[in-house]
Amino acid sequence: NHARTKFRAVIFDMGGVVLPSPFPMTKEYELQKKIPPGTIWKTIKDYGDKGAWPKLEIGEINAEEFGQIFSEECTKIAGETVNVHDFLPYLEHGMKSPISEVLDAINCLRQEGYKTALLTNNWIQSDGKSLLPISRDHFDVVIESAVVGVNKPKYPIYNLCLSQLNVKPEDTIFLDDMQPNLVAAKSLGIHTIKVEDVHVAINELEQQLNIPLTSTNKGTTPVRKEMQFDTRKFTEYLNNQLNMGLTHEPEVREFSHGQSNPTYLIDYGPNVTKMVLRKKPPGKLLPSAHAVEREYRIMKAVGNHGVKVPPLLALCEDSSIIGTPFYVMELVQGNIYKDPSLPGMTPESRKKVYREMVDTLCKIHRVDIDKAGINDYGKHGNYVERQVGIWTKQYQRSETHTIPSMNRLITWLPQHLPTNEVTSVVHGDVRIDNFIFRRDQPEVVATLDWELSTLGDPISDLAYSCIPYFLPTNFPIISGLKGVNLNELGIPTHEQILEMYCNEMQLPNIDNFDFYMAFSFFRVASILQGVYKRSKQGQASSDQAGVTGKLAEHMSDIGWSFASKEGFRLFNKTNPSIGSGTRKYSTHAEMNKCNFYTTVGEAVVITANKDMKLPIHVSALPPSTQQLHSNLLQFMEDHVYPVEKSFSEYYSSENRWTPHPELEKLKAKAKSAGLWNLFLPHSDHGAGLCNVEYAYLCEVMGRCLYAPEIFNCSAPDTGNMEVLAEFGTEDQKQRWLKPLLDGEIRSCFAMTEPQVASSDATNIESSIDEDGDRLVLNGRKWWTSGAMDPRMKIIIFMGKNDKNAARHKQQSMVLVPSDTPGVEIIRPLTVFGFDDAPVGHGEVIFNNVSVPKENMILEPGAGFKIAQARLGPGRIHHCMRLIGSAERSLDLMKERVKSRVTFGRALVTRDTILRDIATSRIEIDQCRLLVLMTAHMMDVAGNKAAAKEIAMIKVAVPITVSRVIDRALQAFGAAGLSGDFPLAGFYAWSRALRIADGPDAVHEAAIAKKELA
Ligand SMILES: Cc1cc2nc3c(=O)[nH]c(=O)nc-3n(C[C@H](O)[C@H](O)[C@H](O)COP(=O)(O)OP(=O)(O)OC[C@H]3O[C@@H](n4cnc5c(N)ncnc54)[C@H](O)[C@@H]3O)c2cc1C
Repeated sequence: NHARTKFRAVIFDMGGVVLPSPFPMTKEYELQKKIPPGTIWKTIKDYGDKGAWPKLEIGEINAEEFGQIFSEECTKIAGETVNVHDFLPYLEHGMKSPISEVLDAINCLRQEGYKTALLTNNWIQSDGKSLLPISRDHFDVVIESAVVGVNKPKYPIYNLCLSQLNVKPEDTIFLDDMQPNLVAAKSLGIHTIKVEDVHVAINELEQQLNIPLTSTNKGTTPVRKEMQFDTRKFTEYLNNQLNMGLTHEPEVREFSHGQSNPTYLIDYGPNVTKMVLRKKPPGKLLPSAHAVEREYRIMKAVGNHGVKVPPLLALCEDSSIIGTPFYVMELVQGNIYKDPSLPGMTPESRKKVYREMVDTLCKIHRVDIDKAGINDYGKHGNYVERQVGIWTKQYQRSETHTIPSMNRLITWLPQHLPTNEVTSVVHGDVRIDNFIFRRDQPEVVATLDWELSTLGDPISDLAYSCIPYFLPTNFPIISGLKGVNLNELGIPTHEQILEMYCNEMQLPNIDNFDFYMAFSFFRVASILQGVYKRSKQGQASSDQAGVTGKLAEHMSDIGWSFASKEGFRLFNKTNPSIGSGTRKYSTHAEMNKCNFYTTVGEAVVITANKDMKLPIHVSALPPSTQQLHSNLLQFMEDHVYPVEKSFSEYYSSENRWTPHPELEKLKAKAKSAGLWNLFLPHSDHGAGLCNVEYAYLCEVMGRCLYAPEIFNCSAPDTGNMEVLAEFGTEDQKQRWLKPLLDGEIRSCFAMTEPQVASSDATNIESSIDEDGDRLVLNGRKWWTSGAMDPRMKIIIFMGKNDKNAARHKQQSMVLVPSDTPGVEIIRPLTVFGFDDAPVGHGEVIFNNVSVPKENMILEPGAGFKIAQARLGPGRIHHCMRLIGSAERSLDLMKERVKSRVTFGRALVTRDTILRDIATSRIEIDQCRLLVLMTAHMMDVAGNKAAAKEIAMIKVAVPITVSRVIDRALQAFGAAGLSGDFPLAGFYAWSRALRIADGPDAVHEAAIAKKELA
């Protein structure tokens, strides 16, 4: 039907046209690698034909050689050492999947008889194959620079392409994103299209060729058997109702889009406008769901009041025609964006798409319901309350298994309902792929899927539209935006969406937006649970329905994390003295109920409980903890690693016995980011995490020796805080625990003595004598970690108060303010020469030190009991941190061996190095699992029951981690031993931990004893 133009072939560039553009990826890479921005493209430009890049493109050098030479070139341009060895793999990773709209266009072109070619400047990858992440089948001709030995914009490569296509330049259109490539093509007489936004470019191509380049069948599949209907009767109906004079039955396809109401594309051939049919699904349905009549009514009404909807043709409520009620509308042509990250678009266009979505939402909410005649379309007032009730019932009817967070939301939501609702039309399913956009520019031409619409609280629509921001990109059913660099892509954040909406609707800020988010996730979870139940009964309209059971759980977990956030907001509002960084309770409260284990004699049997699974990966943690984890990772990247070198230099300088000047600022930042006091399991004082949750966070902190203190999670303070929290009197807590929790002071623990073998704490000789209402302490301690720190204000002193009592009842612990007369710090000890300033390990003399009796912790004779309670969590924390040190060492090692060449080959190619990397990976993962298991035991069965496991990790982790670090040290050569890298510090610390907190042999003896018992 289309007037044929003179063109016969279309040539496509690859990166930036058929595949995502490498430009933003390059920027991201530079950011990640801390390479001065712009270095890479400047290097390519400045070196021109003489540089590594064109040599790579024409296959003269391979990826490995490129890494070496290009790093040197970038180093010269940047004026500092730049390592870009993994730049190509980074690009390759980001350019894996072709842009679906472009593939569609290519298929249409070929169906219309046009020849297609791919003309790419690519390279030979490290596996020896050329980079071509798209099937050759899409093209008649594929010309790869790295294979043919010449690159764009050199003329021969264009001529080669034209001759293989067997077309003249003037019969050809060429699409590329690089201006010089287009200029060369143009000068040969080829027609060119510059690609900035692939959608705009395809639209331009459509204009040039005068053919549509999206298939109307797009997004449809043949109709599944159980979804077929009587097309003869349907045609009869159209003829009767609309006088269409149809003489044959249509071709019918089913849209894969639209999970609950089956939707069909109806095609009566070229002379009849294509139509869309929406009907109820067959089978027994939940009452009030799938009301297509309502959909028709609302679309008609809002369509007449400024909201763009598809032109409606007919509504049929008579089930005898095709089995269920249905309605018919015209097919609206345009773009539907399934992926909310909008690949292939410019940041400017993306911004406009989101702006349009918000504007359309505002138009829907502004419809005057009286004028539109839909005043009775839903009840007025208490919308959210009714919805919570409806979805609760709906959920309970379709419940197939217990979802704990769902049950919590069912209790929580009614208690936190909004108090100032307004009533407007609500769409009920606002998401980017329910809008059709114009082909040539981001303008909404129709809003689809009104199934869940009603009258109600408009903010619920807005919150619902923000759901993708909290879902990962590969989430089934709804693609997410979590982890996507929104700023780079030009996509507004959810806060900006909220702001745009409020500005447009002239609303003040919505304080309880997190409530609406919790409600939105609750609603989706309930819907998904319904779909899941129906899928079990074989009724759902999508293949994906089978997996929705799990998804319902995931959604409700996220919903609960918003409920917790809202809970904190309200809590902080009523308790302004409590900082926003502190958390009152754990969102994963079930974790600490101890009713899932039974004690049989000495042995603890953990009963199988589905809520008590051991999460062996971060993604299995509660969403709120995952969020903490990702915030922590980000904080490390943004604030900790950048200062690591400066800390290391400062703590080797003569000022080292005072804290680094930036430290307090970093602590304040961490505190305000909610990354504070993350230890203290199941406690009101800290983040309220359980040990397993903390394990993942503690590991991250262990990646840098200076990090734990920044988050107030460093030894020995954590152990001392645990003692005070568990055994301290209110007075002691107020005086010492509070400033410790606030990070204002530091503390130390003085047990070990030089004159006796202190692995056996019953040997301790220091004395505690009563003198009226005072206690007098005498003794000599050493290895008192933290004693040297000028901020150290409190010492926990262990001594004997009754040498005649039973062996384990002789000892007591006493709190000693560091400025008490008689406390004399005589020298710092060193670990392999490291003095660990400013914390230090001090030798301290206690000479007739007198403190009030109230400074005794718990009671006389409780020293051993307290030491045991303190050392359990302290030991596991050390192990968690060590795993972080091991991971970091392995990371550093992997990076190093890629960049060092000996005897003509990169170290990474040597078998010994590969074996070392593999062994380290195995050992780290073994240790982590053992630590997680121990943490889990502590959570479910308590610290005492987990004593054997704690002893096991205390032996296994330091020795294994020492080996991992040792391999990294070896691979680094002398550099590893220097202060330029954190390896030497890690090594010293992991080795010391085979002695500190009790030497290996003592723990081994304890394990064996329990084993043989
Ligand atoms: C970096 C660091 C920080 C420290 N921080 C503190 C602190 O803050 N506060 C504090 O009070 N102490 C601290 N210590 C001291 C530490 O707790 C002790 O060093 C440890 O308990 C061992 O005591 P000891 O040094 O007296 O060794 P000893 O008791 O003399 O033992 C020596 C060795 O004997 C062997 N041994 C012991 N028992 C057995 C057995 N049953 N069977 C076989 N062999 C055995 C072990 O190999 C052991 O290493 C720290 C130590 C280090 C290295």
